[in-house]
Amino acid sequence: MNLLKEIDVDKTIVVAFSGGESSAYALMLVLEKFKQTHNIIVCFCNTGEEDEETFIFTKRIAEYLKINVVWLEYRSERGFEIVDFDTAYRITDFEKNNEYPNHPFHLWVKDYGLPQYPKRTCTREMKERTISRYLSSIGVMPRMCVRVVGIRFDEIAKRTPNEKQYYPLIINGVTKSFLNRFFEYEMPFRLNLKSYMGNCGACVLKGLRNLCTVYRKRPEKFEFFKFLNDKYGGGNHSFYIKYNTIDSIIEMAKDKKIKNAKDNRFDFQYQQDLFFDPILDTEGACGGTCEAFA
Ligand code: SF4
Repeated sequence: MNLLKEIDVDKTIVVAFSGGESSAYALMLVLEKFKQTHNIIVCFCNTGEEDEETFIFTKRIAEYLKINVVWLEYRSERGFEIVDFDTAYRITDFEKNNEYPNHPFHLWVKDYGLPQYPKRTCTREMKERTISRYLSSIGVMPRMCVRVVGIRFDEIAKRTPNEKQYYPLIINGVTKSFLNRFFEYEMPFRLNLKSYMGNCGACVLKGLRNLCTVYRKRPEKFEFFKFLNDKYGGGNHSFYIKYNTIDSIIEMAKDKKIKNAKDNRFDFQYQQDLFFDPILDTEGACGGTCEAFA
C-alpha cells in the first residue's frame, strides 16, 4: 500500500488528538512538516471518561507547542459543544447521584445504545463524527480534509491503514520504545497516567488483562459503566471481548494467576509480542488509545 506522504496545499489537515503520548508526537511531526504551508485543525474529544491527567497533558501540549486545541464533547441528538480545560465534563457527586445527566458518554448511549466489543461506535460518534460536525460548523468540509492517524509503526500489523489518511508515526518508523525514550529524556513533561489506564478506563476495546488491572488498581473507573449496565443492559451486558460482562471481569480480576498489565511507559526496549497472551492481551482496534479515524 502506498501511504500518503505529501498533502496538497489546498487541503486542511485535521488532527484528532487523543490525549496520549503517541498522539502528541504525531501532532509534533505534522506541525514540523506542514505548519508553514497548511491549515491545521487540532481537536480533542472528551468522552466524559477521560482521566484528569489526560486533560492536564492535553493542556500542556497545547501550551508547549503554542497551538490551539479545540476541545469537543458529544451532545444529545448528534450535537456537540466546544468546551475547554476548565469547562470540560468531569464526574461530580451531583452527576453520580443523579444518573449522570450531563455525561457525554451517557448522552451518546441514550441516542445509540450500549457499546460492545469489537465495534468502535463510541469512538466513531463521540470523536470522528463530532469532529466532522465541528468542521462543518466552521465552514470546513470534512471530506475535503486529510485526517491524521496516530497509529505507531509497531502497531501497523493490527490495523489496516487507509491510503487517504496521513500516518506520521508509521511513515517515520516511530515505535513505542522510541516514544518512551523521547518523552522521558527530551520532553519537560509526560502523560502522568499508567499505560493501561488510557482513555475510558473501562473501555470496551481493552484486552482482558488490561481490564482486570484497571479494576484492581482503580475500581471506580467501572462505576459509570456499571450504571450503564444496570440501566440499559439488564445488568448483564456483554461489553467486552468474548462476551465478557462487568461481573465476569470483576470475577476474573480476583484470579491471582492473571498478572497485572505492565505500565510500559518506562520500557525502553519495548517488544510487545514477548509479553503477548492471545486470550488475555488481545484487544480491539484502538483499545487503550482510542485513536479516531483508525
Ligand atoms: S476509549 Fe473505548 S469505550 Fe471509550 S470511546 Fe474509545 S473505544 Fe469507546
